[in-house]
Amino acid sequence: MAPGDATPETLSFEAAAARVRAAVSPLPTERIEVAEAAGRALAREVRAAHPLPPFANSAMDGIAARAADLAVASTAAPAILRVVATIAAGHPATRPLAAGEAMRIMTGAPIPDGADTIVPVEDLAFDGDGVRVTAPAPPGAFVRGAGLDLAAGAVALERGRTLSPHDLAVLASLGVDEVEVGRRPRVAIVSTGDELVAPDARLVPGAIRDGNTPMLAALVAEAGGFVVGTTRLRDDPLAVSEAVRTGLAEADVVLTIGGVSEGAFDPVKEAIASIGGIALWRVAMKPGRPQAFGAPAGRLFFGLPGNPASVACVFEALVRPALRMLQGHADPDRPRIPVRTATAIASRAGRTDFVRVTLEPGDPLPLAREAGAGVSGHLMPQSRAHGLLVVPADVATLPAGARADVWLWRWPGAPAA
Ligand code: AMP
Ligand code: MG
Repeated sequence: MAPGDATPETLSFEAAAARVRAAVSPLPTERIEVAEAAGRALAREVRAAHPLPPFANSAMDGIAARAADLAVASTAAPAILRVVATIAAGHPATRPLAAGEAMRIMTGAPIPDGADTIVPVEDLAFDGDGVRVTAPAPPGAFVRGAGLDLAAGAVALERGRTLSPHDLAVLASLGVDEVEVGRRPRVAIVSTGDELVAPDARLVPGAIRDGNTPMLAALVAEAGGFVVGTTRLRDDPLAVSEAVRTGLAEADVVLTIGGVSEGAFDPVKEAIASIGGIALWRVAMKPGRPQAFGAPAGRLFFGLPGNPASVACVFEALVRPALRMLQGHADPDRPRIPVRTATAIASRAGRTDFVRVTLEPGDPLPLAREAGAGVSGHLMPQSRAHGLLVVPADVATLPAGARADVWLWRWPGAPAA
């Protein structure tokens, strides 16, 4: 028997996912500027070196005063306070506030010592040096206390967190200008097939344009990976093996497309037979059953089947989590939301199905409807879909109205065309 002709191992989706997870060790970390850090995985927790806000300040334009001076103020008997200073943001008062006094204060300006409340400007009447207040103001009103947002020493952002744009405000406000994050994986993509031509090529009989490469490259980038090269090859095992070897030398992850099934001209199947540490797999999932996987010399290799739906689904189910884990994201998965099925969804027991679905408003759960007829060569279903509905292996057919989980690609927005 020639190498590579051995019957591939068949394993459940869960077993395949567990093997991929076990093969991933996070990449080294790097320090980058906070301004560049959105979307990256924080490699070390960040604690607050000082409280947020750092000092008590006013939430309104108005006056800083003492609540005790206003305790019995009313329209009939207003409190008249003497205005002794004006405090702008960035300009602390130069002396404490005494009884019977007020200081005009702007939003964000420090509360002067001696003051414990703020009266907003719309509740005030200024008259010469005086200001008239016609209602009591409780202590602490419109005062943003020091540390009320975050106490000094508290954990601001935890390790493994995917930094959001909003997190950058926290970091910058705490005086953190660089963070340690997981390195982005370098990914090489090799697509195979005698039938494939470039998007700008003329279609000769039997040819199709290579749509998988731009899709996969964009999915990789969206997952935080860095595409170092894309190569399109004919079904030539030697050329494919050469490209895979180069990829393994230069990238952290190599993804091949096509050529891993049982056909007569499957070049990836033949190429990997000569590269140690990679094996053919049959994963009990649909789409995407025939695959190859391995972790040769600390790299990751995924041989994806060529059908566009298979590429999209195997990427979501196995590749994307690995790319996220390499970067150190504590939660490598897409958002998962509960739905109900709008119609019955056929499946088969013993196999995990990933069904491309669109979502519609529903009560109490959104309704998921199959996008297209489940043909894995079709492109439009995943173009229209909002995500993948997962039918677990122990379920045969999901009846209409059944509860299921959807891995969300994007929120339903405007109706699909
Ligand atoms: P394979 O896994 O090589 O047998 O390919 C399965 C199906 O996917 C065939 O119909 C191929 O023509 C198609 N296919 C493979 N690679 C691509 C690609 N890069 N873009 C579009 N279709 C592809
Ligand atoms: Mg092929």
